[in-house]
Amino acid sequence: MRKFVLPALAVLAMLFWSCTPSSPDSRPLPSSDKLSGITYQLNVYSFADSDGDGWGDLRGITQHLDYLDALGATALWLSPVQTAASYHNYDVLDYSTINPHLGTEADFKELIDKAREYNIDIYMDYVLNHSGRGEWFNSALSSKDSPYRSFYVLSDNWQADVAAGKVDNFAGATNPGMGSWHSAASGDLGYKGRLHFKLDWKAKTITVTETTAAVQSSNPSASLWLWIGSAGLVGLYQTGADIHEITVDVDTDWGFLVRSSSTSWDGGTKWGSASGAVKFGEPLKLDNTVAADITFGGSNIWYFASFDASMPDLNYGPYAKASESPAFKALAESADKWIKMGVNGLRLDAVLWIYQQQAEANASFLKQWYDHCNATYKARGGKGDIYMVGEAWEETSKIASYYKGLPSLFNFSYWWTLKDRINRGSGKDFARTVLWFRSQYRQYRPDFIDAIKLSNHDEDRAGNDLGKSLPKMKLAGAVLLTSPGKPFIYQGEELGYWGGKNNGDEFVRSPIRWTTEGSVAAKALNGKVDYNMLTGSMSVEFQEKNDDSILKVYRRFARARNTSKALSLGEMAEVSCNSDELAVWTMTYEDQTVLVVHNFRNTPAKAVFTDYKLTKCLVSNGEYSAAKDGTLSLGPFSSVVFEQ
Ligand code: MG
Repeated sequence: MRKFVLPALAVLAMLFWSCTPSSPDSRPLPSSDKLSGITYQLNVYSFADSDGDGWGDLRGITQHLDYLDALGATALWLSPVQTAASYHNYDVLDYSTINPHLGTEADFKELIDKAREYNIDIYMDYVLNHSGRGEWFNSALSSKDSPYRSFYVLSDNWQADVAAGKVDNFAGATNPGMGSWHSAASGDLGYKGRLHFKLDWKAKTITVTETTAAVQSSNPSASLWLWIGSAGLVGLYQTGADIHEITVDVDTDWGFLVRSSSTSWDGGTKWGSASGAVKFGEPLKLDNTVAADITFGGSNIWYFASFDASMPDLNYGPYAKASESPAFKALAESADKWIKMGVNGLRLDAVLWIYQQQAEANASFLKQWYDHCNATYKARGGKGDIYMVGEAWEETSKIASYYKGLPSLFNFSYWWTLKDRINRGSGKDFARTVLWFRSQYRQYRPDFIDAIKLSNHDEDRAGNDLGKSLPKMKLAGAVLLTSPGKPFIYQGEELGYWGGKNNGDEFVRSPIRWTTEGSVAAKALNGKVDYNMLTGSMSVEFQEKNDDSILKVYRRFARARNTSKALSLGEMAEVSCNSDELAVWTMTYEDQTVLVVHNFRNTPAKAVFTDYKLTKCLVSNGEYSAAKDGTLSLGPFSSVVFEQ
C-alpha cells in the first residue's frame, strides 16, 4: 500500500486536460475474456427490432454487433429467449424452443456465429428455479402418473408436509423466506350435462343428481343462487321450508358455488365445499369460511411458487442427488442443446430460491449443474471452462459460499456500495470495500470471477439512484470499467437512461433509441415507456456525434480496459488517502501497473502523488491536471488512469 500526501501549497495554476486511449484497437485481450471482459446485458424484447413488428428480436441484435463491439463487449447476456408466457420471458413454457416473438432457432444460431466473428460470446439466461405454467405443469397436475409429477413442489397438505420436513425444495427449512403455496386443480374438476340441484338451507347441504327432467330458467325472485360455469348466476326455487331446487344445463370446467347474495361475495355469502368434490345423489356439506369450489371430481392440490402463482417452483428432490432428478435431467437436456449450438455461458436466475436460501443445498445443486454443463461444453470443444454466473441477490457476506458451486456471482453489494459513496461524495473507502468483497469470495474459490455491475433489469436504474445526474452516471461507468472483476453493462446505462420500478418493471427495461427520430422496440412493454426520458438526445445516433456523451465515456473506458492487461487482469491495491472524496487504487498485472483515481464529489479535488508517475494518461473523464511536483487535480466527478 503506497501513500500520497495532500499538497502543502493551496493554490497552483492549472491547465486541465483529458485524454483518450491511444490505441485504435478496441478488441479485447482474448485470454482475459471470461475473467474480466465486458459483458453487455440486453433485453432481447426491447433492444432492437429487425422486422418492424415492434418486438426486439434476435436478428436485431445481430444487426447491431458493431455497436456492441464498439462498446468493448466480449459477451452478451441475453434475457431468456425460450418460449415463455410473458413479455420478459422469465416464465419459460418450453426450454428447448425459441420464443417466436424473438425469432427462430436459425436466427439464434446466426447470432452466435456472427458474434463469434467479433469475439463476442453469447450467454443465455437460464431459469432453473421455476418454469411457467406450460405443458410440464399441466401434465403434472393432470394425474399422479404424469412423468412430470415430480417436476414441481406439490402437496395435498402442505402444512403437514413442511412440518414433517418432506418438502425437498425447502432443504430442511420450515420457513421458505419468500413465496406461497397456491391451490390448483388436479384432474378434471368440471362437468357438462343436465343436473338437478337440491339445497337444504337448514342443514347447509346440497345434493346434486344427473337428470333428464325439463330445464328450468333462473328464478328472478330467488333468495339463494348457484354460481356455475357458463350459466353464471342461477336463482333457485323455494320448494319447502328450507328447500331450494332447480334443474339446469351445466358446462363448467371448475365446478360451482352457492351464493346467499346475488350482488356480493362479502360477509360469508360465498358457500363452497367443506370436503372436496360432490358425489351425485349424496348431500355435500357447505361451508362459507374456506368456501373452496365445489368440484365434480379430481381434487385440489397445492403447489409452491417462490415468486408469483404463474411461476411454479421446479423440484429437484434431495439436493445431494439433484442431478438424478427428472426435472434436472430435462433442464440439462435443453441446456445441452444450446451449448452444443455454441452458447458459451449461462446466467442463472434466482439461485437463492432453488433451495429456499439454503446456502449449502444451493451451492451443491449449482455445482452439479455447472459440472454437467461444463462437461457438455468441453465435449463440444469449448475453450477453457464454460462461464456461469449466478444471480444470488444478497449481500456479499451471505452469498460468498455460493462460490463453492459456481465460478462467478453477481456482486450486488458492489453497486450498493458504489452508489452510496457517490451520493455521499466520498470515495475514500471504496477500494478497501471492493478488496473486502474479494477477500470474502476468495475464501471459497481462489479463481472466483467477481461479476460487478451497476443496476439490472430488476432494479431501479442506476440513473435513478444517482438522481438522474449525468456526471454521476459517467463516473459510475468509469468506476465500473476500472474495477477488478468482470463488468456487466446493462442496456441503456451507456446512454444515461433512468427509470424506476414504481409504475412497473417495464420502466427499467426501456428500448434502445437507435436514432434521434423513428420508432423503438417498445411493443413488449405495452405502453410503459417514458418518452420524456427516451428523447432524441438519448439516442445512439446523437451520442455518437457528441464527444462529451456518456456513450463516449463508456467507449473510452471500455477501450482502455480491453487494451490494458493491468486494468483488465490486474490485482487491485488500495492507495491510502487522507482525502475523503477521492477513490484511489492501483491495478497490477505482471510488470504493468496503472494508477486509478476517481473524484466522487461534485467539487474539485486535489492530492499530491509522490510515488506515481502522472505523465502517461491511459484514459480520463472530466478534467484533470497533473503538475510536475506530483499534484493531481481532478474536476467534479472526474476520473483519470495513469500508466506507470
Ligand atoms: Mg421484431
